[in-house]
Amino acid sequence: MSFATLGLIDPILRTLEALDYRTPTPVQKEAIPAVLKGRDVLAAAQTGTGKTAGFALPLLQKLTMEGSQVAANSVRALVLVPTRELAEQVQQTVQQYAQNLPLRTYSVYGGVSINPQMLKLRKGIDLLVATPGRLLDLYRQNAVRFDQLQALVLDEADRMLDLGFASELDELFAALPRKRQTLLFSATFSDAIRQMAKELLRDPLSIEVSPRNATAKGVKQWLVTVDKKRKSELFLHLYRERGWDQLLVFGKTRKGVDELEQLLLAEGIAADSIHGDKPQPSRLRALQRFKAGEVRVLVATDVAARGLDIDDLPLVVNLDLPIVAEDYVHRIGRTGRAGATGEAVSLVCADEVQMLAAIEVLTRQVIRRQDEPGFEPDHRVPVTDASGAVLKKPKKPKQKLIPGTGAGGKGKIHLGNWFDAEDDKPKAKAVRAVPRFGEKPKPGPKKR
Ligand code: AMP
Repeated sequence: MSFATLGLIDPILRTLEALDYRTPTPVQKEAIPAVLKGRDVLAAAQTGTGKTAGFALPLLQKLTMEGSQVAANSVRALVLVPTRELAEQVQQTVQQYAQNLPLRTYSVYGGVSINPQMLKLRKGIDLLVATPGRLLDLYRQNAVRFDQLQALVLDEADRMLDLGFASELDELFAALPRKRQTLLFSATFSDAIRQMAKELLRDPLSIEVSPRNATAKGVKQWLVTVDKKRKSELFLHLYRERGWDQLLVFGKTRKGVDELEQLLLAEGIAADSIHGDKPQPSRLRALQRFKAGEVRVLVATDVAARGLDIDDLPLVVNLDLPIVAEDYVHRIGRTGRAGATGEAVSLVCADEVQMLAAIEVLTRQVIRRQDEPGFEPDHRVPVTDASGAVLKKPKKPKQKLIPGTGAGGKGKIHLGNWFDAEDDKPKAKAVRAVPRFGEKPKPGPKKR
């Protein structure tokens, strides 16, 4: 099947040819004709599936064909994304797709001055990519109007709820015209996302290109058990022993990320980092240097886990497991993209056994363990079996088995300073809307 058979117009086909997109990906095959027809879409699609073109190409075509002029401060199509990096990336992609079209596209996000964004919005924008916090700010200051809005895309909807944007989204939805086309893309489907979809979408076409919560097939996953205090040492050892190169490593806390970056730099390894405490320009610079190959190891918190498109990234390492099991899927989704093969390695200590169990239940697999001689842990990581049995352990910790770790199942996992939300909003408001295992789902956005 070719792009032409999907009903795309010549200027877009020429762009796709220049980009060397020869055949549509599965999500594109389904989404493009449906969006062109004006249908709402609910898509379960991970990054790496080509979903950006799946929504952007038909929307850009519709905006072009209708040909109406965008009024001052108005927006005709809006794409909401969870993080600044993703806003920047989606905008760059959209701009590429729109290169032969008479349309204005732009992105707004927090962490940078609002004034240039206000100026740019004055002329009106055909397709705007935005993070919810900054967009709401602009809306409250009358810098953006939605009366011409005809399409809304929620990209990485699950992540927006994870980052606590439910109330911002609610306020924005209330400001949008009711008559519009809505497309919702999410990599994972919690009850909160299903509820949101029910409230926002009208008779949507459901597209599922990968099984729910599945990890990319081409990614070889394995883990090494190790004592917590020896994780950095093990990372360095594996880096050298296995000739690792060009990899993204995820840590739980900003402090942990900084520490590993410093250790790598001290060892003469070209490293940089991305986390919520770093100013936006240095986050973008780190990513650009990594993409350009100047930096071999990019250390990040989960702020970098979603949506970032890094070509041919061969390896992702979890220095710490993510607290939210779904984030494992997103982290390792940075590798093995667009059909390529990749590797995902996790360094797991006894404290993390519940997180490991939750990940294995979610992804319906037992991650292969591989011992690293010389790093065998004193604190054994209990065996898991993808049934979630470890999650249901009795409340009393078995201190004798795993001294001093709490991994015997105190019933609570210490969360530490793990949260690294998109920082358009005060940290204190960053409340999870997606339930963890065993939690009751919290209510989604209000009905309208
Ligand atoms: P996305 O899932 O939208 O982030 O896209 C992942 C990557 O696949 C991006 O680098 C796109 O440029 C690329 N891509 C998207 N669609 C196609 C296609 N039909 N053929 C080749 N590459 C594609």
